[in-house]
Amino acid sequence: MIDIKGITKSFGTLQVLKGIDLHIGKGEMVSIVGPSGAGKTTLLQIMGTLDRPDSGRIVIDGVDVGALGASRMAAFRNRHIGFVFQFHQLLPEFTAMENIMIPAYIAGTSNRDAARRAGELLDFMGLSHRAAHKPNELSGGEKQRVAVARALVNSPAVILADEPSGSLDTKNREELYQLFFELRDKFAQTFVIVTHDEQLAALTDRTVKMRDGLLDNAPAEGNINVNSFETI
Ligand code: ATP
Repeated sequence: MIDIKGITKSFGTLQVLKGIDLHIGKGEMVSIVGPSGAGKTTLLQIMGTLDRPDSGRIVIDGVDVGALGASRMAAFRNRHIGFVFQFHQLLPEFTAMENIMIPAYIAGTSNRDAARRAGELLDFMGLSHRAAHKPNELSGGEKQRVAVARALVNSPAVILADEPSGSLDTKNREELYQLFFELRDKFAQTFVIVTHDEQLAALTDRTVKMRDGLLDNAPAEGNINVNSFETI
C-alpha cells in the first residue's frame, strides 16, 4: 500500500529526516509518535505529497509519487489521499455538505454523484441533520467528523491525520477514535496518524517511534493489535 525508502529532507542546514524506511499495509492503522521537532509532520507532509523529499522514494498504491509532475501529483493527492488535521480547516462560507463535496468536484465527479456520496458519509457520521449547517454552526466534534467525511469522499487509499484529536475534548476524542476504528474494520481504511495522544497510539495496530529524524521501526509494546496486517 505505502512503501517509503530512504527519505531525507533538510530545511537549510537542518536535516529533519535522515533516511526513513516504512511499509504500511492496506487496512493498517499506524501511529507515529515522538518528541516535538522529531520530524513527524514533515514525514506526513511528504507522504501526502504536500512536500517533496530531497532523496528517497514513496510508492502509494503502486504509484511512484515522486515521479509525478506537479499537476499530476496534485490530482493524485486529491484522489488518493485524505487529510485530517488538528483544526478541521473547513471552508467557513460553505455548508457541511458542500465542504464534503469539494474534493469530489475537484476530482471530476458529477454534482449528483458528489451529493449522493456526501449524503452517505453524513449519514454514516450521524450528521445528516447538520448537512445544511455552516462550520460556525457546528460543535467541535461535528466539525471534525465533517472533516473526516471530506477526507473520505474520494475513497482515498490512505488517510493521513496530524494530531486529529488535538483540539477535541475527551468525549469527542473518543468518538473520533471509534469512527476511525469503524472505518478501518468495515472498509479496511488505511490510516497513518501523527499523535502525542498516548491513548490513541496504544489503540492503533502499530506505533512507530520517531526521534531526531529517524524511525524506530520495532513494534512498540502495549499496542492492541486487533487488526494488524503486518507481522509484528
Ligand atoms: P511537533 O510534535 O512539535 O509537531 P514534529 O515532530 O511534527 O513536531 P516537524 O514539524 O516535522 O516536527 O519539524 C521538524 C523540524 O523541522 C523542526 O525543527 C521544525 O522547526 C523544522 N521545520 C519544519 N518545517 C520547516 C520549514 N518549512 N522550514 C524550516 N524548518 C522547518
